[in-house]
Amino acid sequence: MELDIRNLTKTFGSTAALHGVDLKVASGELLALLGPSGSGKTTLLRCVAGLEIPSGGQILFGGEDASLKSVQERQIGFVFQHYALFKHLTIADNISYGLRVRPRRTRPTAAAIRDKVEELLALIQLPGYGGRYPSQLSGGQRQRVALARALAVEPRVLLLDEPFGALDAKVRKELRLWLREFHDRTGHTTLFVTHDQEEALDLADRVVVMSEGRIEQEGTPEDVYDRPATPFVFDFIGESVRLDIHVDKGRPFVGQQEVSIPRLPPLLFDGPAKLYVRPEHVAFRRDGEGLWATVVSLHRSGSSRRIGFRADGTDTVIEALTPADREPPRIGDRAALEIQAAGLFAA
Ligand code: ATP
Repeated sequence: MELDIRNLTKTFGSTAALHGVDLKVASGELLALLGPSGSGKTTLLRCVAGLEIPSGGQILFGGEDASLKSVQERQIGFVFQHYALFKHLTIADNISYGLRVRPRRTRPTAAAIRDKVEELLALIQLPGYGGRYPSQLSGGQRQRVALARALAVEPRVLLLDEPFGALDAKVRKELRLWLREFHDRTGHTTLFVTHDQEEALDLADRVVVMSEGRIEQEGTPEDVYDRPATPFVFDFIGESVRLDIHVDKGRPFVGQQEVSIPRLPPLLFDGPAKLYVRPEHVAFRRDGEGLWATVVSLHRSGSSRRIGFRADGTDTVIEALTPADREPPRIGDRAALEIQAAGLFAA
């Protein structure tokens, strides 16, 4: 089911949690809402679910306005950070809960419910676990059960709010891969909330970066990582350093030195600016053209080495990543930096 969110606003008293969000989610897409705490991710999800009444705007499910529809009518599957499984019910009864509480008219037969539970247990790779209780499952298994429960009602849209947030890092990573594979098999339109950039980039077809109730950027994981559209996205995703520079006649300068950045779009402004550079985009040579700099630090981390350079004319240290087996320079050596890609924004 395709989802179309138009100019959605939500205020709580004097706090504006969403400022006119426009977002389209294609049918079958796995979309991550990524942003720091308080950026409005949960509020957006709750508005889609019908748990929160928007202050303005529209939400369309498959082209149909859902504003006046109840939570039940929207047919949403919801999974939260804290697995809200019923402790006193078996796994099978937890999964079938949403079906068993339906009015008699729309309630499937007991046999149909049993079949559905078996099918879902197989889907979440926990066949034979139906008779157990939640306390007899690991945290990761419980979250898979929560997902099965959300799917039991055949939702048109699946909403996952930090579903792996309470799990330890290793299980979290396993479940992330599992969910991606699961999504590819089942193809539900899914909105996934996270504040973990790695999780969003690994998992999603498309990432929506939010800040202060607004969308900063939306695009594929490659788009938001390789081509951050705003300083916020540069700071939030990946690793980068920020240099204060100035632009003169459309050319960027660090101190007196011009920086050449091959893939930088033409600059349409002059004056002070901020240059964002990622370590993997910095190469260095001992001679030739580039931004001249002095080696100030060396660190080995796993199979790579980080070399810190202070470019002439700035106090900021620019790091470069090189393979650890490459002969490193020494502290105090001089080198010419080549910055392959960067973000440049007017200050
Ligand atoms: P987190 O990652 O911490 O869950 P979030 O990005 O999901 O954050 P929201 O929970 O959507 O952010 O909150 C957005 C803003 O709205 C915050 O400033 C928050 O304090 C405010 N807010 C959310 N729910 C309410 C509420 N029920 N009453 C008042 N303010 C609220």
